Amino acid sequence: MDAAEFRRRGKEMVDYVADYLENIEKRQVYPDVEPGYLRSLIPEEAPEEAESYEDVVKDIERVIMPGVTHWHSPYFYAYFPTAHSFPAMLADMLCGAIGCIGFSWAASPACTELETVMLDWLGKMLKLPEDFLAGTEGRGGGVIQGTASEATLMALLAARSKIVKLIQADHPERSETDIISKLVAYSSDQAHSSVERAGLIGGVRMKKMPTDSKFSVRGAALQKVLEEDRAAGLIPFFVCISLITTIFFFADSFNFNPHKWLLVNFDCSAMWVKKRSDIIGAFKMEPLYLKHDHQESGIVTDYRHWQIPLGRRFRSLKMWFVFRMYGLKGLQAYIRKHVGLAKEFESLVRADQRFEISADVVLGLVCFRLKGSNELNETLLKRINRARKIHLVPCQLAGKFVLRFAMCARTTESRHVQEAWSHISHLASELLQELPH
Ligand SMILES: *Cc1c(COP(=O)(O)O)cnc(C)c1O
Repeated sequence: MDAAEFRRRGKEMVDYVADYLENIEKRQVYPDVEPGYLRSLIPEEAPEEAESYEDVVKDIERVIMPGVTHWHSPYFYAYFPTAHSFPAMLADMLCGAIGCIGFSWAASPACTELETVMLDWLGKMLKLPEDFLAGTEGRGGGVIQGTASEATLMALLAARSKIVKLIQADHPERSETDIISKLVAYSSDQAHSSVERAGLIGGVRMKKMPTDSKFSVRGAALQKVLEEDRAAGLIPFFVCISLITTIFFFADSFNFNPHKWLLVNFDCSAMWVKKRSDIIGAFKMEPLYLKHDHQESGIVTDYRHWQIPLGRRFRSLKMWFVFRMYGLKGLQAYIRKHVGLAKEFESLVRADQRFEISADVVLGLVCFRLKGSNELNETLLKRINRARKIHLVPCQLAGKFVLRFAMCARTTESRHVQEAWSHISHLASELLQELPH
């Protein structure tokens, strides 16, 4: 394919994408395929001779689409929102075209510098404490990680390395393995599974703190465990908590996912640290071929020290396009719309005596269930997903099987939410009628 053909095919692809998204709600949100469906649809081996672009494109509807879960359908209410917007998709095209690998400042200065400034923009939008911003001093600052899982792991590994150095400064005789064997990290029993996983990968024990009736960890409970663990000779070194307010709990790092709710397509997980030396100091490797004339010095950032992989894409372009084309007001309006739709769904559930709300509805997620047994709710969910009209996933809250209704697609409107609710309510009526009275 040469540039002339790319020009033509590119325009066709943009049309295909626009058609797909404009008509997405006509597609069944969840596919009907069985595991292994795809292998029989394509050859066993890569083609020896080149095929034409038409041949490839023809197969999108035949091979791919039948097995796609349409995450951007307004009937998709499962898992969590994954960000999606036209400006971000265009920026991603440009990212692919530049195709640089921004592991150091010198490897592509714009890639590094735009990222630092975008994380400052975003930090200011969130009103993060100044210490987290890079500014021009560059003590703190932000980085784009691929995922929140990586950000949590980085934070845990940086904390592990910091505590080992601190202890060895006073007790040079203590070995690293001895110290690490005594370390203990803490998270909430409601924390995402990626937090527990960071503990597993980091090779440290992790304790899950019990939560109160609002599913929050309380300071007093944490303090008690910290004291007990210290008395038992353990070394507390890391606490991971989830915040939906702006109390920053003496945090050294903060992470959230613009690739969930901020219209910046996956992957874009924003992580800030107050002291970049904590994270850089933990993992620095300087082979000669990666050195350059402006090593990490105040305003020069070499992001390879802030992450596990060496390579990194020019992901801040997506943020730049989205932030400028929506503006702060547009982003706020978008989030408020989803929160409003979640509230609308909540009031529909509350108005139906057969159902209960299982947790406070704060943002875009409604946890709800039929009053009654877990089996009853499992059956209801099975029927909802089998009908394929909408898609939901469950969760477990205090031993109860709960249905989650997450506001996901950018294009979800009140009529979709109303339709989803009448569908759920209809399936619930059918189910309850079948029960012996
Ligand atoms: C989505 C989510 C994660 C995992 O996100 P990735 O970026 O896919 O790793 C972790 N924690 C919380 C609170 C989340 O919402």
